[in-house]
Amino acid sequence: MKIHNFSAGPCILPQEVFEKAAQAVLNLDNSGLSILEISHRSDAFIAILEEAKALVLELMNLENQGYEVLFLQGGASMEFLRVPYNLLAQNQKAAYLDSGLWAANAIKEAKSFGEVEIIASSKDENYNFIPKNYKIPEDAAYFHCTSNNTIYGTQMKNFPETNIPVVCDMSSDIFSKAIDYSYFDLIYAGAQKNMGPAGVTLIVIKKDILRKSGRKIPSILDYQKHIDAKSMFNTPNVFAIYTSLLNLRWLKKSGGISKLQEKNEAKANLLYTEIDRNPLFEGTANAEDRSMMNATFVLKDSRLTNKFAQICESKGISGILGHRTVGGYRASLYNALQLESVHVLVNAMQELEKYTN
Ligand SMILES: *Cc1c(COP(=O)(O)O)cnc(C)c1O
Repeated sequence: MKIHNFSAGPCILPQEVFEKAAQAVLNLDNSGLSILEISHRSDAFIAILEEAKALVLELMNLENQGYEVLFLQGGASMEFLRVPYNLLAQNQKAAYLDSGLWAANAIKEAKSFGEVEIIASSKDENYNFIPKNYKIPEDAAYFHCTSNNTIYGTQMKNFPETNIPVVCDMSSDIFSKAIDYSYFDLIYAGAQKNMGPAGVTLIVIKKDILRKSGRKIPSILDYQKHIDAKSMFNTPNVFAIYTSLLNLRWLKKSGGISKLQEKNEAKANLLYTEIDRNPLFEGTANAEDRSMMNATFVLKDSRLTNKFAQICESKGISGILGHRTVGGYRASLYNALQLESVHVLVNAMQELEKYTN
């Protein structure tokens, strides 16, 4: 039976990416060597890394604009501290938007480096909406936001105008829609949500914002050191970078980000339409802030939980349980998930409705 993987992360990747990655574990491009055993300093890996960097900039339309691409380890959580360490001087403050648990974790880390001003928060409503109409203090070192709140199923549809550098945690909606990426000065994303396997973080950074905080930064935390060492300051995650490259190639071959955006919109529309139509279910996120990547919803009558679980299992639906802080369901609709899988989920919801009639 085909399994439909709606997991929030690590996530589904295209079948051909899994197959090519598996092949490379046995024999990388007929070299007689496994991707797991080649030197990160080999010509083969340097070519992989350079192609991945170039594809990131190409897909984001950021070529020749002073951006650098890094593939580092430590997950998005490492960037929660690497960002303030690099960008926040001791006597400065940073402006943060508190739109979810990940944003709150980023705030917590930044507080150990300097003053943090939370310019708006949706915490009191269990983060079920995106705060709006806030003012960004123009004397802050940078503005930090989370473009998609994976846990709560909310997504920023607009970004505020500001003259200070903008830092964005794009872990769960990177490459999912065509936006003006040049608005951002630093983008980071744990690969395992929409780009590749766990173990590597993509960082796209505008070089000219670095080396301004006057701090002495430990090498492993210093973006500039990683740029100078071309992501090879220490051994990178060779396999995760290679698998991410396979997915980036697939993205390009599939028509690029705008084409995927159309597909992602179709998937999200299909599911949200059913959530709103089906009398047994309701969405948990504010309608205008609904995420195209993670749709969160609950059963109005929790006595139907077991029956719905049974129906889902019989159809091969996997990974739709909500995060423990929200409960209910979360269907993640990342790039590699096919429209067909959403149809299967919608059918399961309709089957539950028939069962109750
Ligand atoms: C999953 C997630 C994180 C945490 O990523 P790690 O790679 O596990 O550190 C941070 N931000 C967002 C938006 C996420 O979805």
